[in-house]
Amino acid sequence: MGPRVYRWYLAANGAVLALGVMLPASARVWAYLAVAASALVAIVVGVRRYRPVWSRPWWLTTAAIGMSLLANAGWAAAMAPSGVPHFPSFGDLCYVVTLSLLTASVYQWVRPGAASGGLIDAAIVTMGGAAVLWVLVVAPLMYDAPFTGLRLGAYLSYSAVDLIILALTIRVVVVTRVRSVAYRLVVAASTVFVLTDTLYYAVLLSHNVRLDRPTAVGWLAAYVLMGGAALHPSMARSVGSMPRPSLSSRSRLWTYTVLATTISALIVVAVAPDLSPDRLVRLVVLVGLSCAASVMLILRLAQLADLLNRRAHLDPLTGLGNRVALQNHLDRPERQDQVLLLIDLDGFRDFNEAFGHQDGDAVLIEIGHRLRAVAPSDAVVVRLGADDFAVLAASPGDDLADRILESTRLPVRIRGEIARTFHVSVGVVSLPGGGSHPAALRDADLALATARANGGNQSAMFDPGIHAERRANSELVAQFHDALAAGEFTVHYQPIVDLSTGRIVAAEALLRWTRPDGTRVPPDRFIPLAEQSGAIVAIGDWVLAQVCADLTGLWSTDGLSVTVNVSAHQLRDPAFADRVLTLLTDAGVPGRALIVEITETVLVTSVSDAAAVTAQLQRLRDHGVRIAIDDFGTGYSSLAYLRELPVDILKMDGSFTARQIDHGGPREIAFIRTIVELGRSLDLVTIAEAVETATQADRLRDLGCHLAQGYHYAKPAPIAELRDRLLRQSPLAPAVH
Ligand code: C2E
Ligand code: CA
Ligand code: CA
Repeated sequence: MGPRVYRWYLAANGAVLALGVMLPASARVWAYLAVAASALVAIVVGVRRYRPVWSRPWWLTTAAIGMSLLANAGWAAAMAPSGVPHFPSFGDLCYVVTLSLLTASVYQWVRPGAASGGLIDAAIVTMGGAAVLWVLVVAPLMYDAPFTGLRLGAYLSYSAVDLIILALTIRVVVVTRVRSVAYRLVVAASTVFVLTDTLYYAVLLSHNVRLDRPTAVGWLAAYVLMGGAALHPSMARSVGSMPRPSLSSRSRLWTYTVLATTISALIVVAVAPDLSPDRLVRLVVLVGLSCAASVMLILRLAQLADLLNRRAHLDPLTGLGNRVALQNHLDRPERQDQVLLLIDLDGFRDFNEAFGHQDGDAVLIEIGHRLRAVAPSDAVVVRLGADDFAVLAASPGDDLADRILESTRLPVRIRGEIARTFHVSVGVVSLPGGGSHPAALRDADLALATARANGGNQSAMFDPGIHAERRANSELVAQFHDALAAGEFTVHYQPIVDLSTGRIVAAEALLRWTRPDGTRVPPDRFIPLAEQSGAIVAIGDWVLAQVCADLTGLWSTDGLSVTVNVSAHQLRDPAFADRVLTLLTDAGVPGRALIVEITETVLVTSVSDAAAVTAQLQRLRDHGVRIAIDDFGTGYSSLAYLRELPVDILKMDGSFTARQIDHGGPREIAFIRTIVELGRSLDLVTIAEAVETATQADRLRDLGCHLAQGYHYAKPAPIAELRDRLLRQSPLAPAVH
């Protein structure tokens, strides 16, 4: 269904309504019925297609249109020979329900939870309108209407409900922020409905004439407008829109003043004919005064509203604007190019804690003044909260960032004495003219984070590339859970060989992620994200379970042990060791079959953390599980950790193998020799990683390295390939563990 379908719908039904007037009565009834039914269908189709966030008003309207069809049927059935239906009939009952449903629907066009301002406006309009109606229509009718009693009461109350619907419609107009096509159509619909209804009852009550034919077109037109609105895509959000925050507007002030004056004038007009001239003068003076007082009251209230409004946009500490004020400017479309700068005081929290809030506030006020002073006079300068400021100015802003850095670097005097220098970080985002920028703050925040990460006391421009990368990362993180459940993870094995015999003695388990479409996500890309997000705990548990299941065969038939990478997150869980031991028992293999590979980073946390991690490792080791230190030699304090950790194996980082053997001189070789010797003296096994050539393997063996792994022997591959290799290296000489 294309977005233009609503036009076709409106045009077709408009044509039927226009031509219908010329049709013979019997055919006309059917044409009109079809039009009403089409409105019902259009709303149902629209709601299903566009799934509005707030669908209640649409269903209420549907029910109202259905009920009005029933009402018409009821009236037709109750038609007396005079051409006037009996009263009260089933039709009237249905009509009361129709009006109630419509009222409820229009009431809900403004979503609940919205400010009551709209409702008060509606009430004012209702009262003004009621006064006009009373004087011009109702009061005269009371004495010479063609109806009496219940019938008169019913017709009058129908009109009263129409007035309420009109008032609620005005409320929608007053509070709606985004004026979409669907919004315009529904407002038109309820206006047409109310006007038609009022015309009908006004003519009926004053002249006892039923304007059935023209008013039928009016009612149907209202339904068709609703149907058209429902078929426009903007229906998904326009009806039920949240109110705009503005409290007072010039046009509203005028409306109220005109209303107050009109009501006063009406009072005079209504009673004037019955009064003597001197009484009339007295009345005019009194009413005039009371009217003036009302107008003054309205103006005063508007003033207060204005004040509140300004308060709501002010930061009380610095006198600058606040977040709301900035957001209002950002939401407003701007023709000019602009820049938004976010400014954050480096190290302010520490200062606040050390010197107290009073001195902290003084610093913030001073910084606020300086920002106001360096920013162009028409720039928006606000404090967003704590020590975050923002400046929104016309482009170009690069030198503005420099001027801000410059001015804030000057020492700040506190209580006339302590002079301290503060530095700021500035995040800059340029906002091209011709639209609004709802995401500007977020972008500037990313730029600010970059400035801070680079050491502060500098500015950084927003880089869409960084942003895109962050979004891609968080999308990946969001997929871990489902990928695990969907079995998209697998474990590959890379053989580890004995350098002296060339036989496979172990294998490293390496995680692989293959998407359903066959693409692979590299481990270096997703594992760091899984670590940051904590997802590594669940994924790591799965790897361990998988490895233990595979070990059942590998260990018992080939005597092969498997080494598994375990992250710090996993080791911090006090139940980790027990879980691993249970998995081993279930697989029926001894602890010696498993090697846990950790990097030194597992200990680069708090002291208590390190103790907990060491306890977990110790418990595993007590059951025969061996511990390997991965990427050994890349950490900055490897030796200190070696002393603390219960370790069995050193895995020398791949960079030693590649760089130092192929291109290295005696100095580089000395490093490898040192690592190997360190291992020997501590009674540890050394494994060389990333061995890619036979030369490298020979050198490493000569240097005394025990084991090696790398592309020279085999790439990581599914377990089947590992089994093949094990079969091919038979006949078995008894493996040495
Ligand atoms: P790592 O533990 O240092 O693993 C060795 C990496 O070197 C593997 O990369 C392996 O494919 C690669 N490699 C093997 N032989 C050679 C070679 O001859 N030359 C070169 N240039 N590279 C070689 P991979 O599989 O991409 O894994 C990357 C890292 O992801 C691993 O580094 C490890 O830190 C992490 N990782 C992999 N699986 C897991 C896991 O199950 N859990 C955790 N926590 N981390 C894992
Ligand atoms: Ca590893
Ligand atoms: Ca490694």
